[in-house]
Amino acid sequence: MRLILFGPPGAGKGTHARHLSEKWRVPHFAAGDLLRAHIRNATEIGKRVKTILDRGELVPDGEINELIASELSKPQAEQGFILDGYPRTLGQAEALEEFLKRRRETLDAALYFKTSWDVIVDRLSGRRACPQCGTNYHVRNIPPKAAGKCDRCQAELVERSDDQPETIRHRLEVYEKDTAPLLEYYRKRGVLQEVPGDWNISELQEELARILGKQKLTGKRQ
Ligand code: AMP
Repeated sequence: MRLILFGPPGAGKGTHARHLSEKWRVPHFAAGDLLRAHIRNATEIGKRVKTILDRGELVPDGEINELIASELSKPQAEQGFILDGYPRTLGQAEALEEFLKRRRETLDAALYFKTSWDVIVDRLSGRRACPQCGTNYHVRNIPPKAAGKCDRCQAELVERSDDQPETIRHRLEVYEKDTAPLLEYYRKRGVLQEVPGDWNISELQEELARILGKQKLTGKRQ
């Protein structure tokens, strides 16, 4: 299975990417999580991208293309992958296509999480994230078992620095300008699948199982 998940911030891509990854046993790579790990570890890349993330801008295509290509070159990605938050520009989509072409691979589907403004704002303003494993929670919709602690790794949950109202607004503008054109790009390639990002988690999990169940996928579910 080779999938990409795209849509505005707060559409639920991260939550569903994790679930699909567990269900189908394929690794998932979240571009934002990879960048935040670099920032946390104060790597050279992390130092270069920190202010970009804080401002809600996109890091340059070259930087993220290289990062993702190196993840996809790992042995565990040979049988498939789920990409969350990459590609986010036409340049990135073209780079991914080239990368896959060299390996004689194609995408099975590009899932577009169509999500309304009100839902996005509510999800992002109530979001709490685990700084270690990247799992997302929501103060009302997805509370952790123990208040303020990640269910998986017990780390203290945080509000993301880019989930502040002003930055949220800017990220949505960036999305409209740079990422929304991917809709047409993947529609033309015949792999676009629109999914209702407004639906609650269990409803959308069922819908995704239905959509992917009908799909002719590369690799097998184990
Ligand atoms: P996310 O966790 O997907 O919401 O991403 C958080 C931030 O990481 C974004 O606002 C961007 O600053 C950066 N980022 C994530 N993915 C990409 C990408 N594909 N291209 C450029 N910047 C990205």
